[in-house]
Amino acid sequence: MFESLQERLGDVFDKLRRRGALSEEDVSAALREVRIALLEADVALPVVKDFVEGVREKAIGQEVLRSVTPGQMVIKIVNDHLVETLGSEHSALNLTTTPPTVIMMVGLQGSGKTTSCAKIAMRLTGKEKQKVLMASLDVRRPAAQEQLRVLGEQALVKTLNIVPGEQPVAIAKRALQSGALEGYDVVMLDTAGRLAIDEELMAEVAAVRDATKPHETLLVADAMTGQDAVNVASAFQEKLGITGIMLTRVDGDARGGAALSMRAVTGCPIKLLGSGEKLDALEDFHPDRIASRILG
Ligand code: GDP
Repeated sequence: MFESLQERLGDVFDKLRRRGALSEEDVSAALREVRIALLEADVALPVVKDFVEGVREKAIGQEVLRSVTPGQMVIKIVNDHLVETLGSEHSALNLTTTPPTVIMMVGLQGSGKTTSCAKIAMRLTGKEKQKVLMASLDVRRPAAQEQLRVLGEQALVKTLNIVPGEQPVAIAKRALQSGALEGYDVVMLDTAGRLAIDEELMAEVAAVRDATKPHETLLVADAMTGQDAVNVASAFQEKLGITGIMLTRVDGDARGGAALSMRAVTGCPIKLLGSGEKLDALEDFHPDRIASRILG
């Protein structure tokens, strides 16, 4: 992830580093390269425009042209602005002080939602010593509930027993009841996905949200989706009000664009990264680390 963006900006910044004095045109030329690099990394156009404008304003405000090492200063401004746009600090999952915490997983089918649900549950159960219950609310995709059960076995996490024919809201309520009665710290609800956003899906998930009042609504999105990531993120944000994002498949050759766009468009923190198919392939999202990876 991010490699090509890094290479690209690396070239620009190498040129800038070598030059002592910069003209305003040099800065503009550098920003043009930044713009192209971001676009090539699949960052959405409005986000790119805002980003470049933000950097330009800061560069002018800080009198880059008159500074001793203008190239370095532009690099620092781009880097700082990138970190800021990505969300500045690592943002952890919202866990309540009055359990059970309800975490609702939402996203398109195939985004890695069910796998991510199990990954998070395994981490909470293991490292964080939480008692976790998972429930699949996906009654449409054949075997979805069974898939979560199998993952639960692998992750040593309890899953709610499957009642054939039960509908999503009823399953969710039953999960919360079990969660409260049996002393669970966290109840994770894995909602159904679709190949594309549709009203029916959103209405179904909204009904679950209203019935369960989740503390965390985590949008799971594939880092490979590129430009489309923005549409997905804003649709889920608008209809459901997400509280965080988990970006999957960062182990693939995706460009970094999705992370930057989704954060900028929703204003929600990217909390976690999925970096492989295995259940332990789960990483915290650190904006500063990602930014330095982007810029090299
Ligand atoms: P869902 O339809 O959104 O629930 O998606 P699944 O959880 O069933 O995942 C779809 C496929 O993506 C499965 O083969 C997963 O193993 C795979 N997958 C999920 N997360 C990741 C990830 O972070 N990296 C990679 N390489 N594969 C992933």
